Amino acid sequence: MNSPTPSTSAAAGGATPRKFQNFIAGKWCDSVTGETYENHSPANWKDIIGTFPRSNEEDVDRAVKAARKAFKTWRLVPAADRGNIFQRMGDLMVKHKEDIAREMTREMGKVLKETMGDTQEAIDTAYYAFGESRRLFGHTVPSELPNKNCMTFRMPIGVAGLITPWNFPSAIPAWKSFPALLCGNTVVFKPASDTPATAVRLVELLLEAGVPPDAVNIIHGSGRKVGIPLIEHPEVDLISFTGSSEVGRDISSRAGARLKRVSLELGGKNPQIVLDDGNLDLALEAALWGAFGTTGQRCTATSRLIIQAGVHDKLVDMLKNATNKLRCGDGLDPKTDVGPLVNEAQRDTVESYVKIGLDEGAKLVCGGERDTSPQCANGWFYRPTVFAGVTPEMRIAKEEIFGPVLSVLKVKDFDEAIAVANNVDYGLSSSIFTQDVNRAFRAMRDIEAGITYINGATIGAECHMPFGGVKDTGNGHREGGWTVYEFFSEIKTIYVDFSGTLQKAQIDNY
Ligand code: NAP
Ligand code: MG
Repeated sequence: MNSPTPSTSAAAGGATPRKFQNFIAGKWCDSVTGETYENHSPANWKDIIGTFPRSNEEDVDRAVKAARKAFKTWRLVPAADRGNIFQRMGDLMVKHKEDIAREMTREMGKVLKETMGDTQEAIDTAYYAFGESRRLFGHTVPSELPNKNCMTFRMPIGVAGLITPWNFPSAIPAWKSFPALLCGNTVVFKPASDTPATAVRLVELLLEAGVPPDAVNIIHGSGRKVGIPLIEHPEVDLISFTGSSEVGRDISSRAGARLKRVSLELGGKNPQIVLDDGNLDLALEAALWGAFGTTGQRCTATSRLIIQAGVHDKLVDMLKNATNKLRCGDGLDPKTDVGPLVNEAQRDTVESYVKIGLDEGAKLVCGGERDTSPQCANGWFYRPTVFAGVTPEMRIAKEEIFGPVLSVLKVKDFDEAIAVANNVDYGLSSSIFTQDVNRAFRAMRDIEAGITYINGATIGAECHMPFGGVKDTGNGHREGGWTVYEFFSEIKTIYVDFSGTLQKAQIDNY
């Protein structure tokens, strides 16, 4: 294995930016196109993270063929040995946690505390995979016939194509690649174009931990030039995608036409409900963390705050005061509360939705503009924004903005709160603040979402629990926990007849 050139910090006016490469068939290499693109820090455009290949379908084809070849041997490695690699992976990530997080903040923008958390999620996922390697359980079941047994095994499937977004640059690739590899599949990974350096770091560490070089391949480039050829390649057996619902639909139809297994984790428009008996201090803290953490760029971000009339005005006031105090800036600066949007397009989307909200007649409580503080001069910063007076049919109540914009909706009672919460096409996360156990349990049952938090923010997934949503948020699969191992393995059913006769089920016994 040759290794990439060492990292150089290319901060303003600094050294030559690092040249990053693809990793295909056990070698770091350029794309066959010879083309590259620069990735800049969203907090400071002058800081070039590096140059990355703009790859195409030929690169994809080489990677898939390498992964296909590697599958022949990797599938036969005992699962416990594969698991030991993930123990080492966890140890390596612990050792490098802070560097990984710092580079991630520089590349993606969210504050260091959050990139430390993102890295920790990947560490937890590695240790979970280590444990799971001894638990790839099947069932052993009595037969309907004498002297015969039935059982199931979990089998590796083949080559997994992984396509990831930029908002959790370590955690989401770890959620996919660790269970995929642990189950005995090989991987071709296309990271988001905005966070390719963190993805490379993950692959470097996987190799150092002991994953065979051709079992993991990474290809940089666009969704069109790399993502689609990966999905459509006949030798890719399964696809795991996290991203927007729009792209998810396209992937689903391409994969469906080829009868491929595909897991889609898509968008959200997550509600936090606060009832009259809810603890307002906690509800405020949760709303700030849920709406403005990661600058609102989380699939589980709180984008709707649904408040019962009795506490509405008070909570909106509290929210206004607290939001106005949030400081935007570089995520590596300890004084910063909220980092930049990831890129210009994302900042423009936020700006256009603020205009839509104003045109729809929502009341701007705070924010609603770019941050013009000196520390924000060279990045994609936008003030955390709160709209009140939002009604359920407004676009800012229904569409995913993926930025620091919170829509507040006032409701008269519990039933209206649930109806409003469910009045969207998405169904990822949700939360409710109440001290009433009856209403809490009704909310757990009646909110249409894959995840419901009682007295917590809409964000905060733990690696050992299933993660995913209903409605347009996905297609029924779950990442995380034991459930993702079901996606990345195929059940094989075995019958063993030790009767010495040829027994016929349903016939000989009736
Ligand atoms: P995106 O535009 O859908 O992109 C996601 C990934 O797909 C990127 O790697 C992208 O490549 C690639 N891609 C784009 N178009 C493609 C195509 N036609 N075929 C194949 N691949 C394609 O989403 P994003 O803007 O990066 O991320 C934000 C979205 O992700 C939000 O909607 C958010 O809710 C969702 N998200 C969901 C979850 C969840 O678990 N439910 C978690 C995080 C984010 P490029 O980067 O090169 O464009
Ligand atoms: Mg960038």
